[in-house]
Amino acid sequence: MANVADTKLYDILGVPPGASDNELKKAYRKLAKEYHPDKNPNAGDKFKEISFAYEVLSNPEKRELYDRYGEQGLREGSGGSSGMDDIFSHIFGGGLFNFMGGQSRSRNGRRRGEDMMHPLKVSLEDLYNGKTTKLQLSKNVLCSACNGQGGKSGAVQKCSACRGRGVRIMIRQLAPGMVQQMQSVCSDCNGEGEVINEKDRCKKCEGKKVIKEVKILEVHVDKGMKHGQRITFSGEADQAPGVEPGDIVLLLQEKENEVFQRDGNDLHMTHKIGLVEALCGFQFTFKHLDGRQIVVKYPPGKVIEPGCVRVVRGEGMPQYRNPFEKGDLYIKFDVQFPENNWISPEKLSELEDLLPARPEFPNVIGDTEEVDLQELDTTRGSGGGHRREVYIDSSDEESSHHGPGVQCAHQ
Ligand SMILES: [Zn+2]
Ligand SMILES: [Zn+2]
Repeated sequence: MANVADTKLYDILGVPPGASDNELKKAYRKLAKEYHPDKNPNAGDKFKEISFAYEVLSNPEKRELYDRYGEQGLREGSGGSSGMDDIFSHIFGGGLFNFMGGQSRSRNGRRRGEDMMHPLKVSLEDLYNGKTTKLQLSKNVLCSACNGQGGKSGAVQKCSACRGRGVRIMIRQLAPGMVQQMQSVCSDCNGEGEVINEKDRCKKCEGKKVIKEVKILEVHVDKGMKHGQRITFSGEADQAPGVEPGDIVLLLQEKENEVFQRDGNDLHMTHKIGLVEALCGFQFTFKHLDGRQIVVKYPPGKVIEPGCVRVVRGEGMPQYRNPFEKGDLYIKFDVQFPENNWISPEKLSELEDLLPARPEFPNVIGDTEEVDLQELDTTRGSGGGHRREVYIDSSDEESSHHGPGVQCAHQ
């Protein structure tokens, strides 16, 4: 629980990473009240931060993404929806949607474009055997007709509305003597800081400098790769003028498997056997992740206790980058006992003669009381009413005529 990638959103709400939904709600209500713009007009950003943090953490899916992968997880999970851009860059600084932020610079001082994150679902079989797959995606590339200029050379002019800065400062009067300063993206140039005359615009990209292109990436999922592991394609993200393209990052998402559960390089499975197999040995087959039929034998004379675990060494997942080394396979045994009265009383006493002897009845000194051992209906579930139900059931004919069984149980 405490092993989270990033705690920033928790810090904003002033709660620990393991906080319950209730604690989150409480913290949010308190802070939202305190920083609400009606009450506290200068705290607009703070209020947005609080709302954003709560929006993420109160949504189980988003919270899980954030806990596991931090802000990257959220970005990927949000699917790049607009509107989150501002708050993202505000909280995390720079970032995927912050195309004019300029915080992320590459080593050579050139502005670096953002990385593009895509989830890639893979089966456990794929991760066992390795897989090459093709991924089609559309991305921005520099327009070849205008070389990413947007028009004829010299056609590009500095935006006069924002003096080339791409943003405008607006002053809003909230009340006499009270103003709020707001920065907003320049609408004349869409934050580009430059404009191109209609007639000089490049026809191919309509002055946008970039065009969408479909790109096919060949993705190699290596044996032994894990859930959450990243596969990076350097410099394959969106292109933009004067910007070094970021990376395309694929985030592996392991799909659930019906038979196996993975734990690092080990695999776990459950197998049902009957009582006779548990006592007298058995053999069974299963299909492994690479399609092999595996025969598991356990010799007569060796006993499997219900719920016990046995291990097959070397039949787990291959190690990443060392695939000939494998983890282990743990098999948990679910022993199926026969039904009530499955055997005649005579046979039962024969069976008893064959089974290990029962312990002797202990010598008890003093009074004894014999009680009734009953079957418990586990489908009814446990919880508050459970104990009471058991008591009601155990009230016999004698007590049933004077009031609810619950009372009788206390006598
Ligand atoms: Zn063009
Ligand atoms: Zn402008």
